[in-house]
Amino acid sequence: MFMHNKRLQYTVRVSETNPALASLMLEQFGGPQGELAAAMRYFTQALGEEDAGRKDMLYDIATEELSHLEVIGSIVAMLTKGVKGELAEANLTEAEMYLEVNKGGDSHTQSILFGGGPGLTNSSGVPFTAAYIDTIGEPTADLRSNIAAEARAKILYERLINVTDDPGVKQALGFLMTREISHQKSFEKALYSIQDNFPPGKLPAMEPYGDVYVNTSQGPGDALGPWNEGPQWTRVDDLTQKLPVDGGDGQASVAKLKPKEQEALRAAAQRLHSDARVDPITGADLGAGPGAGRTTRIEGLRSRPH
Ligand code: MN
Ligand code: MN
Repeated sequence: MFMHNKRLQYTVRVSETNPALASLMLEQFGGPQGELAAAMRYFTQALGEEDAGRKDMLYDIATEELSHLEVIGSIVAMLTKGVKGELAEANLTEAEMYLEVNKGGDSHTQSILFGGGPGLTNSSGVPFTAAYIDTIGEPTADLRSNIAAEARAKILYERLINVTDDPGVKQALGFLMTREISHQKSFEKALYSIQDNFPPGKLPAMEPYGDVYVNTSQGPGDALGPWNEGPQWTRVDDLTQKLPVDGGDGQASVAKLKPKEQEALRAAAQRLHSDARVDPITGADLGAGPGAGRTTRIEGLRSRPH
């Protein structure tokens, strides 16, 4: 069960209202790297986890992310407090109100649609979606995704800190940013506490392709580094010579087609056969004007000069 504590995890002190800033803050409320996405990512992983240690950690962090959702949502609510009251009570002239709700960004949506409360959208008003949750049910893959998600969340907080000079908002965002650093550390430890955590899953790499670097983009700018040369790598530069890499004929085929399937495919191929000997006049030829480039010439067709 969940219980709610009325005190926030970190105190939210906002100097003054600022609806445009509030709309930027929504990125971490209902955006892909936001706190709801984080909470749901770890919560779904906790439900499916068999390992007692990881399950406990995932519930702890999922629940803390909900507490962060509360902190960032409270920041949004404080920043929109002014327009909320003014809109509800209509205590400004229409012209003043119009200016107030159009303070910038997506703040008009927050003001008009959500009445100054935090909406579950990103900073551009895109609704939250479960598609942000990438849990796949395999700890060696999910923990890697969690590490990357914490890294992205940390960067977004850093960017949000850089767009406000409100010291209270900066502090609360700094706290949220810092917790993402600590979550990243926990997830890394949990990943490496699984011995043999690479490659993710159970099946091994197919020899020898796991050690091959394919230099598919060639020309000026080709660079060497530990990611593509050295004892770990077999480097392939002569691409066409080495294709197909399995030594087969490189063709796609089906060994057994049912007679009915074969018959239907033959009929379709016959019906749709392209005849290279036919060069018909097409609509592009008939309608060709200046700028059409080369088309099939039709003598005497044009009556209008151009
Ligand atoms: Mn968080
Ligand atoms: Mn986190």
